[in-house]
Amino acid sequence: MHAVLDAKIEYLEGFGPRKVSLLNKELGIFTYSELLQYFPFRHEDRTQFHQISQLHAGMPYIQLKGKFRRLEVVGEDKKQRLVGQFEDGTGTIELVWFKGVKWMKQRLAQGPAYVVFGKPSVFNGKFSISHPEIDEADAKKEGAPSLQPVYQTTERMKNGYLDSKALSKAMHRVLKKTLPHIPENLPDFIRERYKLIGRREAFYQIHFPKSLEWLQAAKTRLKFEELFFIQLKLIQNKICRQEAHPGIVCSRTELLTEFYNRHLPFDLTGAQKKVIREVYDDMRRGKQMNRLVQGDVGSGKTIVAFICMLLAVNAGKQAALMAPTEILAIQHLKGLEEFTGKMNLSMALLTGSTRKKAREKIHQDLQSGELDILVGTHALLEDTVQFQSLGLAVIDEQHRFGVAQRARLWTKNRDFYPHMLVMTATPIPRTLAMTLYGDLDVSVIDELPAGRKPIQTSHLYDAHRLKINSFVRREIEKGRQVYIVYPLIDENEKLGLKDLMDGYESACRAFPEYPISIVHGKMKPEAKDYEMMRFAKGETKIMVATTVIEVGVNVPNASVMIIENAERFGLAQLHQLRGRVGRGSEQSYCLLVTSDKLSKEGKIRMETMVRTNNGFEIADTDLKLRGPGDVSGTRQSGVLDLKVADLAQDQEILKSARTLAGNILKKDPTLSHEVLLPVRQFMQKDKKSGLQWGNIS
Ligand code: ADP
Ligand code: MG
Repeated sequence: MHAVLDAKIEYLEGFGPRKVSLLNKELGIFTYSELLQYFPFRHEDRTQFHQISQLHAGMPYIQLKGKFRRLEVVGEDKKQRLVGQFEDGTGTIELVWFKGVKWMKQRLAQGPAYVVFGKPSVFNGKFSISHPEIDEADAKKEGAPSLQPVYQTTERMKNGYLDSKALSKAMHRVLKKTLPHIPENLPDFIRERYKLIGRREAFYQIHFPKSLEWLQAAKTRLKFEELFFIQLKLIQNKICRQEAHPGIVCSRTELLTEFYNRHLPFDLTGAQKKVIREVYDDMRRGKQMNRLVQGDVGSGKTIVAFICMLLAVNAGKQAALMAPTEILAIQHLKGLEEFTGKMNLSMALLTGSTRKKAREKIHQDLQSGELDILVGTHALLEDTVQFQSLGLAVIDEQHRFGVAQRARLWTKNRDFYPHMLVMTATPIPRTLAMTLYGDLDVSVIDELPAGRKPIQTSHLYDAHRLKINSFVRREIEKGRQVYIVYPLIDENEKLGLKDLMDGYESACRAFPEYPISIVHGKMKPEAKDYEMMRFAKGETKIMVATTVIEVGVNVPNASVMIIENAERFGLAQLHQLRGRVGRGSEQSYCLLVTSDKLSKEGKIRMETMVRTNNGFEIADTDLKLRGPGDVSGTRQSGVLDLKVADLAQDQEILKSARTLAGNILKKDPTLSHEVLLPVRQFMQKDKKSGLQWGNIS
């Protein structure tokens, strides 16, 4: 099918082996169809002419129409250059050629009108362009594309004469050859409903648009298509999995009632109740659950997980809770022990450092069904860990686990998949979650327990040092503790380390009366643990650290977080760091300290942090500032490798595409209806080209 599209670029005339190899190596382009999908990142608008009198510094490219008032060769020998005074009736600009002087001199003359295109520079208040593109105004053919594509090229490509212009020529040729063979993959009824242009038209217009309107239409069409097929695959995956894997019915609730009536230490928030209800509906339905619970730091995910585990145990099954670090696993165990003790449930902890004997006992008790709940780290994944019947697996902080590790939990039973609950405190914007976790159901705990005092955040400058110090002293005198965090600047922490050491010394000078801890990634683990422990016990009052404290530590008495050089942190990280305080009953504070030279983006980040404690709002801003590729934990997923769509900008298109995909699959899960033939064919072809959709989420 469509052999032309799969033809190798070797067959394109004008492409020698050198260019082919550059495209292979630099851009991973091997076939016509891959070349076609290398879209320009912008277009130069050649429909507009600028006026010389209106030029200002900082204009990227300009196009002028006018004549030469003077044109002369100046300088001697190597310094020779062609200088033209070019005027358009509103002013004059200097055009200069240093290379090919003779040849240009022959081509140009005073008299005829020219169109000039180039990047202006200013010197002494005068504008000039060196080596502009120049054509006789009459020679500019009617109908020639006025919006010219600009393609991203690498340094190597440019050296091999494969610049944007060369690519655009190749694109022309490839379009001519392939256009009639590009298959439509959206049926008419979809194109009509969403007012989308045809696929061939779209491919042509995205490279060589007739007008800005056409460019827009082409982009919209291709974005819709891209997002629609991703959603189709994700949702289809989910349906397949549910069909193939019936879930264990967990409908009994006696244990839950007992817990609610006799042991619940506080009232659950509305959001916690809502999520438990959603999980319960999943778990009793007879289909395997795959649910993501998003809840900001401190929103109370652990107790939700525990209650869900009770549902599994109540159905005569076992439950497991996996955390990314030993410290977190121990914290979970300690938190839950109180309840399981009272409720007569058996629970054990399994980590890398569990001794052999204890480990063997755990293995036995798991297989005999003696053990109801297992808490642990990656150690749970080992093949020797076999359950009698695992009903529910909970993964805490899921973004810290790899895909493969999660998949291994599924195989802990011989004949059925356990229900899966994955929890994350990394707020992922909704649009991103929809794409990344399109095949998971998502629950959100969007409410903090009552009585929490929101952390007060301020933005201060280095010049406020004395004020900051006296604030710190006041808080310590009230009995609180303080974090001072420095950014880790390079991988090896070398740069950050100097800042950190300087900071530690100045803290020692400023607070000679208080013991101070210091912790960074270059320390031996034992030394680090020892310092952390001293701080946790309250023996030291100030903890100076790099971002190593981001995970693991829980010191409720620490109520002040000072983030130095805060402009160097991303929003997600600032938010995570701030989450280290506000864990006790006292009012907590976060001070963001920056230099007074802040980039525009840096300012927005500080303002966002000061304005809100809401992780989702922060994540949304982060997405807008940085683009989706950088939002934590999503880079490796591969789904974000979008060609045209942009998750930050195209939320509306994503929503329509997702709704449509969902509706279609609801009516026709195998896409077998005749009108869906183009969709089905496209998906089959795409499958062969090998993206591993099963690996997502
Ligand atoms: P996270 O969502 O960050 O994992 P945790 O589950 O660790 O949060 O809960 C943070 C703290 O809040 C714990 O001390 C927990 O006991 C407490 N907590 C959880 N839910 C509530 C609630 N509804 N009311 C009061 N405190 C709660
Ligand atoms: Mg937690």
